[in-house]
Amino acid sequence: MNKSIVIIGAGLSGLYLGYLLKKAGFTIKILEANDRIGGRIFTKKTHDTSVELGATWLWRYNKDLMELCQELKLTLFEQAMAGEALFEATAAATVQRFKLPENQEISYRIAGGTAALLEQLAAHFSEDELLLNAAVNTIQEQDNAIEVITEHSTFIADRVVSTIPPQLLVHSIHFPIALDKDLVEVANHCHTWMKDSIKFAVVYNTPFWKTKGLSGTGFSHVGPFTEIYDHSDFTHKRFALMGFLNGNLATETKAQRELLVKTQLLKFFGDDGENYLSYEEKVWSQAPLTTTVTDTYLTPHANNGHPIFQKAYLNGKFIVAGSETSPSYGGYMEGAIYRGHQIALQLEQQFL
Ligand SMILES: Cc1cc2nc3c(=O)[nH]c(=O)nc-3n(C[C@H](O)[C@H](O)[C@H](O)COP(=O)(O)OP(=O)(O)OC[C@H]3O[C@@H](n4cnc5c(N)ncnc54)[C@H](O)[C@@H]3O)c2cc1C
Repeated sequence: MNKSIVIIGAGLSGLYLGYLLKKAGFTIKILEANDRIGGRIFTKKTHDTSVELGATWLWRYNKDLMELCQELKLTLFEQAMAGEALFEATAAATVQRFKLPENQEISYRIAGGTAALLEQLAAHFSEDELLLNAAVNTIQEQDNAIEVITEHSTFIADRVVSTIPPQLLVHSIHFPIALDKDLVEVANHCHTWMKDSIKFAVVYNTPFWKTKGLSGTGFSHVGPFTEIYDHSDFTHKRFALMGFLNGNLATETKAQRELLVKTQLLKFFGDDGENYLSYEEKVWSQAPLTTTVTDTYLTPHANNGHPIFQKAYLNGKFIVAGSETSPSYGGYMEGAIYRGHQIALQLEQQFL
């Protein structure tokens, strides 16, 4: 009989691991709490274009991810950087133009949006293999198997792999037979990459910044946005700018944040800047399927790829995965792919 693996989470880690394990001949089920796949990859369609409210860039040194994009026949394009950049030093000062030094490491984007990567992977699963709106609340070992419980169903498998960010995992899932204390301690102090970020994007009819000789890139010590970039898609039907807001604006309303962004766009780009077609944003610190409120301050990438994540738990039946557990590029998309390879190999060696 085929060995069965339940994967928790349909972000990049869960989808990629499911893709590898299905190819290898395992019976798989991916349980996703949200009503969409993707997790921290969130491409939002708006006004005949799409904007990234989660992961956007990949780089040549992301070798596994680059190879996967090739295998899935995805088209990559360079982040637009041609033209002068802008810098706002203080609220009272005018915004200065400057030339950025030539970038040694080009950032790439995926044509059709980062979600195209997820859609290609998800196309390999049947409706029975990938379930949305299936929030796991309990994981429990049985004699020869392991049980995963959601509000409406119970799933029995030979192995369970969680791709929930480790810190959220130990805060949100009940383990009737307690998990290893050291694992819980490290997971509790494992930083979830970009968990405090606020990303916004504005869509325009024209790339007016280019006609002013600007790249769309800008930096600010004032805010609300601290960084901004050209975010026009591959088709160039519409044009866009995308950036990051000060994390402390999470407590404001969306309307208040938009008003502040509009005022700064006017200061950076003149009247054209505030005449956008749409404003989109995502406050990741308020995404309960990504992060949880804790009192502990963690430095970025703290405990990412910790050796404790490389062991299996509950008598070898439970594996902690997800980008943050990867010893290589933990927290990034590349980490999700690297760790997926590791686990698939481990399970194949064990069972096939
Ligand atoms: C704003 C932002 C910008 C980023 N920019 C980049 C970038 O430019 N380049 C880059 O390489 N990386 C970037 N990243 C990081 C990148 O998004 C992550 O590395 C990657 O998406 C992690 O994938 P994952 O599957 O490991 O985790 P996640 O995407 O977090 O997936 C975990 C999944 O588990 C699900 N889940 C949670 N709880 C449960 C439950 N109880 N039951 C079932 N399912 C559950 C979630 O809904 C989610 O779908 C960015 C992230 C953010 C937020």
